[in-house]
Amino acid sequence: MSDRISDDTGRASGDEERTRRVALVSGGSRGIGRATVLRLARDGFDVAFCHRSSPDAARGLEEEAAGLGGGRVLGRQTDVRDAGAVRELVAFTEESLGPVEVAVTSAGITRDNPLLLMKDEEWRGVLEVNLDGTYHLCRSVVFGMMKRKSGCLVNISSVAGVHGNATQSNYAASKAGIIGFTKSLAKEVGRYGIRANVVAPGFVETDMTAELSDRVRKEAEQSIPLRRFGRPEEVADMVAYLVGAEYVTGAVFQVDGGIVL
Ligand code: NAP
Repeated sequence: MSDRISDDTGRASGDEERTRRVALVSGGSRGIGRATVLRLARDGFDVAFCHRSSPDAARGLEEEAAGLGGGRVLGRQTDVRDAGAVRELVAFTEESLGPVEVAVTSAGITRDNPLLLMKDEEWRGVLEVNLDGTYHLCRSVVFGMMKRKSGCLVNISSVAGVHGNATQSNYAASKAGIIGFTKSLAKEVGRYGIRANVVAPGFVETDMTAELSDRVRKEAEQSIPLRRFGRPEEVADMVAYLVGAEYVTGAVFQVDGGIVL
């Protein structure tokens, strides 16, 4: 079940005229999601975000974001594997801030292993968070967007989903799934004024890559023409671009320093 972590929801009154746009970001407590929350808040959005189990990080982000663009930023504990909880997250967001115009799915995990050693729970666990989680959030916001004839979905995949990556067959499958899902959705809902795009980052400096060994990290940097990992803010820049790119849909944008896998 989801527990709201902020008491200060700043619930919009029925009379209040809504002029601010609303964005919802999954996996907003850390890394790329966190940078996206801050970027969208700075760009003038009211933003709701979810995390799985980081109430302190979420509260810290709410505080940091307060006043950035003058809007409200609300965190909520929601496991994206749970369809009902994601529906509640969307209802909470709409009640507290207003209709969701932009949804960004950044919640994701890795459980790397060569296929021969892959455990069933590593396979399923990654698919459940990365692919099912993306489906749950898009499924929960799309009807409202169709009714309003407007909306923007940005799903975070990975270069591994485009090119594959050794020891990441589960992760790459989930991320390739996100690409097929998003392209299909773009074709399905474009007539309702809804755009759906993918951002596929390469190596980005977050907790996810902090666990890489020095050797793997060095090898990775050698395969990147720009010779460094990206920053979460550089991925958020692409998300922000797509939010404003009114004639772009069904596209996959790599933000990867030119990596060759
Ligand atoms: P991160 O720093 O590890 O943060 C992951 C975020 O996802 C956290 O906010 C986490 O919440 C949330 N999360 C994980 N499982 C969840 C669940 N079941 N329900 C709800 N939230 C959940 O990861 P990141 O590096 O920013 O990655 C963000 C996205 O970019 C992921 O989809 C990842 O696959 C993709 N990506 C990352 C890289 C990279 O190099 N970092 C490269 C390519 C693609 P908690 O804080 O509560 O755990």
